[in-house]
Amino acid sequence: MNGKVNTGSNGSSENKKNKDPVHLFSSWCKKCGICIAICPKKVLERGPEGYPYAARPEDCILCGMCDIHCPDYAITLRKKDKDKDKDEEAEHEEAK
Ligand code: SF4
Ligand code: SF4
Repeated sequence: MNGKVNTGSNGSSENKKNKDPVHLFSSWCKKCGICIAICPKKVLERGPEGYPYAARPEDCILCGMCDIHCPDYAITLRKKDKDKDKDEEAEHEEAK
């Protein structure tokens, strides 16, 4: 174990990489709940072991609030998928 926990299913599954907007480093997380409280879309909830996980990943707007406000750098945003980045680049090109 490297302390990295996928947050898709109670913080224990590695199967939903494309769905989860955030991932958690459980060895750094002190279960303070700041990320859960600060999320504007109420995406995060506390799992059975007390760690945050994305209960409503589809509602995540990738605002980064959880990432920025975690005092222990324990939660980070996953990179947007490449297709989405390409779409955004195309939009920028069209806007020029
Ligand atoms: S703010 Fe950081 S330390 Fe606190 S519960 Fe969230 S991930 Fe864990
Ligand atoms: S990126 Fe924003 S919306 Fe998504 S889980 Fe973090 S705080 Fe919530």
